[in-house]
Amino acid sequence: MDIRDRYAPSPTGLQHIGGIRTALFNYLFAKAKNGTFVLRLEDTDRSRYDDVFTDNLYDTFKWLNFSWDEGPDIGGPYKPYIQSERVALYKAYAEKLVESGRAYYCFCSSERLDALRKEKEAAHSPETGYDRLCGNIDRTEAAARAKKEAHTIRLKIPLGETTRFTDILLGEIEWKNDDINPDPVLLKSDGFPTYHLANIVDDHLMNITHVLRAQEWLSSTPMHVILYKAFGWEAPAFCHLPMVMGQDGKKLSKRHGATSINEFRKNGYLPEALINYIALLGASYEEGKEIYTLKDLAERFSLDKLNKAPAIFDYKKLEWYNAQYIKMSSDENLAALALPFAIEMNLFGSGALGPTEKQKELFIKAMPLVKERALLLPEIPQKIAYLFSAPVPAPPDEFIPKKSNLASAIKLLQMGSDIIQEMAEEDDEGAEKIAKAKAEKEGVKLGDLLMPLRVAITGGRVSPPLFLSVRLLGADICGQRIQYSLESLRKEKV
Ligand code: GLU
Repeated sequence: MDIRDRYAPSPTGLQHIGGIRTALFNYLFAKAKNGTFVLRLEDTDRSRYDDVFTDNLYDTFKWLNFSWDEGPDIGGPYKPYIQSERVALYKAYAEKLVESGRAYYCFCSSERLDALRKEKEAAHSPETGYDRLCGNIDRTEAAARAKKEAHTIRLKIPLGETTRFTDILLGEIEWKNDDINPDPVLLKSDGFPTYHLANIVDDHLMNITHVLRAQEWLSSTPMHVILYKAFGWEAPAFCHLPMVMGQDGKKLSKRHGATSINEFRKNGYLPEALINYIALLGASYEEGKEIYTLKDLAERFSLDKLNKAPAIFDYKKLEWYNAQYIKMSSDENLAALALPFAIEMNLFGSGALGPTEKQKELFIKAMPLVKERALLLPEIPQKIAYLFSAPVPAPPDEFIPKKSNLASAIKLLQMGSDIIQEMAEEDDEGAEKIAKAKAEKEGVKLGDLLMPLRVAITGGRVSPPLFLSVRLLGADICGQRIQYSLESLRKEKV
């Protein structure tokens, strides 16, 4: 069997973790089975539709760097892949169900339906939804009325029966038809289909073999199964994916932190880190192995690796993944990823749209200074800002080693000044040797010698590695910063 699955978002919101997880699992399943992954836009809810959300969808996937085999933008044998362009089709299929007696025209006004709902609410009736009034109209009469009167088309749910289907993950599911929303609307009075009708018609016409979707759709599936039966079609295999929860066990939402992919992108996450982490939400692969590329995942994915239990979204773990991917990036690649954040914080001069050639070179060379420690991309330019402009002078206390005083700090800094030229010409090992020799000669601790030097050059006690910083800045700039600090410290003294 040729496996075909799909991601079928409704463009009524920004792409978020849950949606991308669904898309990713469908993508991986199709790849693992040599199948076809389809993108279909379910844009029939026109009141909530906005172009912004469709743009966001394409933009997000472009950034994540994985894509579909058939879809609105690239076409395919079952086009169009946008439901609003298929409206006539749904209407024809709904009419077919009316002809076969599986659905009926409903002429109830929205006022009647409102009144009915209020009445049931007031009576605390356990029954909700439509009272099936129009289901009793004679079919010939209804057909005649439908030619003149506004109407919807409702699916007739066969009462007194039980609907069963097998979910690949959850097993046998049974649902009493009497508990299903009474006679849901398939076609609205404006001729637009509801989600249920369009979704089923398209999954059938597009030969979808597997529906992998979020568990929140599970309660709609019995009704979908009835709809497939009504059409006389075979239903695809269903697999409802475990929910994604926050640490508190509640459904992941804005309360927990970022949820839209845009936010993660703006906060400095790498797409590979997000994909790696999202792929493990509700699935387990090899014990002890945590880093997977998209290709690794596609080779390993199978539905029996999915967990039934809800997945917990752990922001800290995602950060850890990001740090790993930052570490694994080449200097050039990491610099390119961090560049927009550097421009945004005016690292290359206020208002500069980009770095000069020299600045760019320095930026790339500075990556080893931050690679090992950065969790998120914006930290990168922040941590190396002192390479691009003189740091804000640190207060005098910062220069003074423990149990020492200002006079000693000045002496230590002077010693540092003596060796800065030599240090700037050496690699890490060489620079350390020079510093050690100086400390020994002067009878001071190596740490005490380097500390005021670090503060003068980088602006703080905690900074990226000093020796490489000295090399990148060069002896002249380091010398100037040391002199500047010496002068201010001397002023303090008097
Ligand atoms: N359009 C639905 C959504 O927005 C699709 C659900 C399904 O996959 O069937 O999630």
